[in-house]
Amino acid sequence: MEKVLVSACLLGRRVRYDGAAKSLVSEILAQWQAEGRVVAVCPEVDAGLPTPRAPAEIVTGDGHGVLAGSARVVDRCGVDLTRVFLKGASLALQLCRKHDIKVAVLTEHSPSCGSMQIYDGSFSGEKRAGAGVTSALLRQHGVQVFGQQDIVEAGRVVEAL
Ligand code: SF4
Repeated sequence: MEKVLVSACLLGRRVRYDGAAKSLVSEILAQWQAEGRVVAVCPEVDAGLPTPRAPAEIVTGDGHGVLAGSARVVDRCGVDLTRVFLKGASLALQLCRKHDIKVAVLTEHSPSCGSMQIYDGSFSGEKRAGAGVTSALLRQHGVQVFGQQDIVEAGRVVEAL
């Protein structure tokens, strides 16, 4: 049975920077959980960051830029977290390899897990198109990454595998 990587905060775990969850209510997710398909991941906590923690954003690019060395991840205090975010992405990729995962549903707008949009690096609440660091790395290695808003589409892909 195909496993699916899912952001831990969507599963109700209080791992977000503000110590909260971002629980997703979804029949598809509930079905995946009942079937034992779900593999939880929180790249930031897995990489060693505490909860709660200062919010972080990607400056001058997106996750692909971070992987290429042309963009950085910094927190609101100006601390460079690029290496930590790269480590979290690498750990998520290891999980995908371990479980032969081809589909992920990750939390939109996060500098790690965002897949369509992320915050723009100005800490002003503005967003722009782009992927987080983990989503970018997983896509580079063939994992199909969806935001939680597209879980129905993700469900179709999983069914077809
Ligand atoms: Fe959720 Fe991903 Fe942020 Fe962890 S890194 S809190 S899983 S969005």
